[in-house]
Amino acid sequence: MGENSERPWHITLTDNRIMKFLLTNKYVQPTVHVIMVGIFFLAIWEGLTGPQDPGSNFGAVAFFELWWIPVMLFSLVLIGRIWCYFCPMGAIVRFTQRFGLKRHFPMFANTKTTVLGISISVVSITAITFILARMPMYNLGMVFDPQLISYFFLISTILAVGVSLVYQRQAFCRYVCPASGVMTVTSRLSPFELRQEAETGVQCATLEYKSEYLSSDRRCVSCMNCTTEQPDEDVGLRARWPGAAAIRQRIPLPDEAILIIVLWAVFPIDHVLSDHIVTVTNAEAFIPGDWVDIYAYFASLLLAFAGYLTATAVGSWWSGIDWEESFTWLAYAYLPWAVLFMLGNHGIPGFLESGGAALNVFFTTFGIPITLSESLVSESTIAVWNSFNATLLPWIGVIWGLGIVWFAFRRFNFSKRTIVRSLLPHAVLLVATTAWVVVEVLW
Ligand code: SF4
Ligand code: SF4
Repeated sequence: MGENSERPWHITLTDNRIMKFLLTNKYVQPTVHVIMVGIFFLAIWEGLTGPQDPGSNFGAVAFFELWWIPVMLFSLVLIGRIWCYFCPMGAIVRFTQRFGLKRHFPMFANTKTTVLGISISVVSITAITFILARMPMYNLGMVFDPQLISYFFLISTILAVGVSLVYQRQAFCRYVCPASGVMTVTSRLSPFELRQEAETGVQCATLEYKSEYLSSDRRCVSCMNCTTEQPDEDVGLRARWPGAAAIRQRIPLPDEAILIIVLWAVFPIDHVLSDHIVTVTNAEAFIPGDWVDIYAYFASLLLAFAGYLTATAVGSWWSGIDWEESFTWLAYAYLPWAVLFMLGNHGIPGFLESGGAALNVFFTTFGIPITLSESLVSESTIAVWNSFNATLLPWIGVIWGLGIVWFAFRRFNFSKRTIVRSLLPHAVLLVATTAWVVVEVLW
């Protein structure tokens, strides 16, 4: 960074010959995809036929310890949607759609529906698929059952192939993939963006924003068409303040606000609310077995949305800021805390505590016997992390989120008094629920 005085937060990756080759040669990504698809199907096979202890099954380890938790989360948090570059499902989608009917998916700009005064579109489908995909992971114990994990990914693959055989331009990636919407919103927090230096004139594979250059933000699926078709255009890595992309965004969508509230509901809120819902409603008396957890999961989601809508209604009425505008922007106050909860409570401690054992299983499957100790760091380091996670981290998330909304509204020249009035009900909700999570879950 800093090599170009006009763009001090930027390096041109393609100045390096190796990076230029990796980013612009049209055979590199297909080679990566062949490897990734091979690992993907091996993981499914091992999940079905291997040992059913999740800690020693290659499928369970590959999907949940080495892919979903660290790779996925770090890629989301550091460089936006960069995971899509490697994704085996994206590779399957791109291969399959060549043989499909190539129909247009109904474009979101033309098909809006108003619900509670909020115009929503097909982009919200990814919120529904995320809710449905997340539900079996813990509520049905899928993460502890390698066969169930394999069935889950097999069904997802069949769905991806089915959608791709009908619709063109990676419709599965844009509108169905459960990770897609999540990555779109979390990429706005990432401190780095991979981006072409200029418009290339290459029509974006997704056609969505008529973009003509690579960017790991927005809804780009990292197909690399724009870099491989214009290999002489530079690709750079930009650094920015985490959250700056959320503040500066030009087309915030209510659908993406819905996704953010889903993340907040599914991660921190569900962890405190679901047990209380079961107790207060005496659900076990009238709902059988596993359905109790599923009922509590959906009830938590509904209550979280009710809380958000109530805070938005009070803030909109008090400040005079338009209802839909309030709904769309104020959700960003909840995004950093939802992401930090995922990282702080699951991703980082899980990888530190059992990452060595997971790497052992992964490499041993490929005939590379490594013998790392189960835990990658000492117990005292994990304890330090856990106390940071239970004290400072949640409040960093809260302040970060409130700051994003504050600066975004300042860009629109709202007065400080107006912003305080719109933000205060959310600050109360956010602080109260975060304190509840800290006391009940993290301490
Ligand atoms: S959108 Fe989903 S399926 Fe498509 S490449 Fe990205 S992670 Fe993979
Ligand atoms: S063409 Fe470029 S901007 Fe469009 S999805 Fe592919 S990599 Fe992203």
